[in-house]
Amino acid sequence: MWVTLSKEEKLKKQKGLKVNGFQKVAEMFRESPNMTWKGDVNKKVSDLLTKRYPAQWFISTDAVLFVNEERDLPEEYGIEDIEAGLAGQADGGSIYHEKPGKISLFKQFSYDMKNITSILDHEFAHQNDWTRNIILSEPQRIKLLCDATSAFSESKEFFSEYVESIKNDDKQREAYIKVTEYWAEAIEQYMTAGPENYKKTNPTEYALVKKWFDIINDIKE
Ligand SMILES: [Zn+2]
Repeated sequence: MWVTLSKEEKLKKQKGLKVNGFQKVAEMFRESPNMTWKGDVNKKVSDLLTKRYPAQWFISTDAVLFVNEERDLPEEYGIEDIEAGLAGQADGGSIYHEKPGKISLFKQFSYDMKNITSILDHEFAHQNDWTRNIILSEPQRIKLLCDATSAFSESKEFFSEYVESIKNDDKQREAYIKVTEYWAEAIEQYMTAGPENYKKTNPTEYALVKKWFDIINDIKE
């Protein structure tokens, strides 16, 4: 059965963003020249996020955690050609998803503020995609999936070694995983390059990300 919560009920489920476990990252990479974190590291991550995004971007997430374990990429991604572990993970979602989820970051070879920021950009994009954004209506979520699918097939400029490497014997599944990762990579690239630069290099991805940032950021509480 399809149960749709009201916007008020969904918002009531979101009780603020908790950030935990990042003290461990600062300890592990204390010797690294790129590690400049001192003091309350969880608060630093939380401040970085709230400066980077409007409040609406956090509605579908209630926690960001660092998990001190190495994880492999899901087998269905079929990635063999590049060396990659699982950097982060957004909670599993579906079109029925009604509760805010969590983001986990996993142990990597090296960390600094810049690559943690990129991983967070990528995972928050997943938390705001068609399966996990709890505030978009169901028709909006379907439209977002359609827009991302069209942009991915039409784009002439987009490049991501990660997206290119995804392989699954089930070609329909492969296409779906690629679009999911395309959305997250496009947002990560948009945030890294900045909107003005990204508009010049990647007009298709810029238009997709800008359109949906505007829709999501316009959601009134
Ligand atoms: Zn991803």
